[in-house]
Amino acid sequence: MLPPHVVILGCGFGGLWAAQGLARASVQVTVVDRANHHLFTPLLYQVATAGLSAPAIAGPIRHILARQKNTTVLLADATSIDPVARKVVLDDADVLHYDFLVVATGSTHSYFGNDAWAAHAPGLKTLEDAFDIRARILLAFERAEREEDPARRAAWLTFVVVGGGATGVELAGTLAEIARHTLPGEFRRFDPRNARVVLVEGTDRVLPPYPPSLSQRARAQLERLGVTVWLGRRVTGIDEGGVSLGNDRIEARTVLWAAGVASSPLGGSLGAPLDRAGRVLVAPDLSVPAHPEIFVAGDLAAVSTDGKPVPGIAPAAKQMGRHIARNILLALEKKPARPFRYRDWGQLATIGRSAAVAEMGPLRLSGFAAWLVWLVAHIYFLINFRNRVVVLIDWASSYFTYNRYARIVSRRVL
Ligand SMILES: Cc1cc2nc3c(=O)[nH]c(=O)nc-3n(C[C@H](O)[C@H](O)[C@H](O)COP(=O)(O)OP(=O)(O)OC[C@H]3O[C@@H](n4cnc5c(N)ncnc54)[C@H](O)[C@@H]3O)c2cc1C
Repeated sequence: MLPPHVVILGCGFGGLWAAQGLARASVQVTVVDRANHHLFTPLLYQVATAGLSAPAIAGPIRHILARQKNTTVLLADATSIDPVARKVVLDDADVLHYDFLVVATGSTHSYFGNDAWAAHAPGLKTLEDAFDIRARILLAFERAEREEDPARRAAWLTFVVVGGGATGVELAGTLAEIARHTLPGEFRRFDPRNARVVLVEGTDRVLPPYPPSLSQRARAQLERLGVTVWLGRRVTGIDEGGVSLGNDRIEARTVLWAAGVASSPLGGSLGAPLDRAGRVLVAPDLSVPAHPEIFVAGDLAAVSTDGKPVPGIAPAAKQMGRHIARNILLALEKKPARPFRYRDWGQLATIGRSAAVAEMGPLRLSGFAAWLVWLVAHIYFLINFRNRVVVLIDWASSYFTYNRYARIVSRRVL
C-alpha cells in the first residue's frame, strides 16, 4: 500500500516548515510552488533598493529539499481545490490527489478596489516586484539627469511610498539614504541630495501595530534621514504623473505601494468561511472546518490564540507550518489534533543605517541598539550558510562605504 500523500501548496515560510516537519514521516510529500525559490521576504526591500542581489535572499526549493527523500517538488500554479474529491488542479490541468492538504499560498497586494493604480505604483511581494521597483528607482535618477525642465526633473526626483507599515518605512528610509549618501557625486546636472521622499500613511502614526512610543521614534528617525512623513492622509488617485490626496497633489514619477494586503484567492476554493481580508477562518488546530484533512498555514489562515489574532508575519507562518506537520503525524497515529498556540517573539522594523525599532516582550528599543538586534536576527534566520555569509559581507561593505552594489538594471521597465 502506498504511504499517505501530503500535498503542500506554497513553499514560503508556512509551506517549507510544514514540509520539513514531515521529513522523517512515512508519507509521500508533494510541494507545489509557482516560483522555483523560497524567498526570505524580510530582506526583499534590500533587493528592491539595490543593497542585495536576489540569490542572497532566495534559494531554490528543489535544492533546499533535495535531501528529503520522501518529498517531490513541482513548479506549478495551483488554480483550484476540490475538497470533496480531495484533489488540486494545477495550471496545465494536471490533477494531484491528496490524503492531507496544506494550503500555504500566502497573500498578495490589495489596491482597495483601485486595481488601475497597480500599473503606476508597484507593490513588493515577489522577486519580480523587487527587480521592477529597483529599476524604477534607479532609472528615475537617470531620467532626471537627461531632463532640462526643472518641474519635470523635480517629478523624476520625487518618490512617494504609500503605506507606513514595516515595508513602507524600510523603503522610504532606504530611498532617502540612497539619495543622501549613495548617489551624491555621480550626477552632473542635479544634486541627488535634493531628491524628495514622501511617506504617506492613512492612520495617525507609522508602524501602526507597534506601541505608539516606538511609532513616534520611528517617525523621528525617518525625518532625520530626510523623509517627509504625511500621516492621516488617504490616497485618492495614482496616475503616471503622481499621487492625489483629496485636493492635494504630489507630482512624482515613482510611486511605491506598501499599503494593502489581500489573501491568496486559493482560500476561496476551500468552501470554508473567510474573514474580511479573505483569510480562511480555521479551527484552533489549523484545519478547515468539516475537513480535518485540510490545513491552512501562514498569511492565509485567520486564527486567534490567547484571545489575540495571530499576526501575518514570518515567525507565525513557520510555527503554523511546524504545528500542522505535527498534527498530520498525530492523525497518522489516529490521535487527536492539538490546538495551535502562537509564541510571540516580538517585532522588529528597520528604518535605515543604525536606525530601527524593536519590541520584545516588555523591552522596547530604538536606534542603533534596535538595528543591531534586527541585523543579528535577520542574518540568523536566513535560510542557509552561504546566504548568511554573502549578506554579512555585503552589509559590512555598504555600512562603511554607503555603496549599494546591486545597481545593474535594464531600461526596459520604462
Ligand atoms: C516585502 C515584505 C516584507 C516583509 N517583512 C517581514 C519581516 O520583516 N518580518 C516578518 O516576520 N514578516 C515579514 N513579512 C511577512 C512575511 O513575509 C509573511 O508573513 C510570510 O511570508 C507568510 O508566510 P506564508 O507561508 O503564508 O506565505 P509566503 O511566504 O508568501 O509564501 C507563499 C508561497 O506560495 C506560493 N504561491 C502563491 N500562490 C500560489 C499558487 N496559486 N500556486 C502555487 N504556489 C503559490 C508563492 O510563490 C510563495 O512561495 C514581509 C512580507 C513582505 C511582502
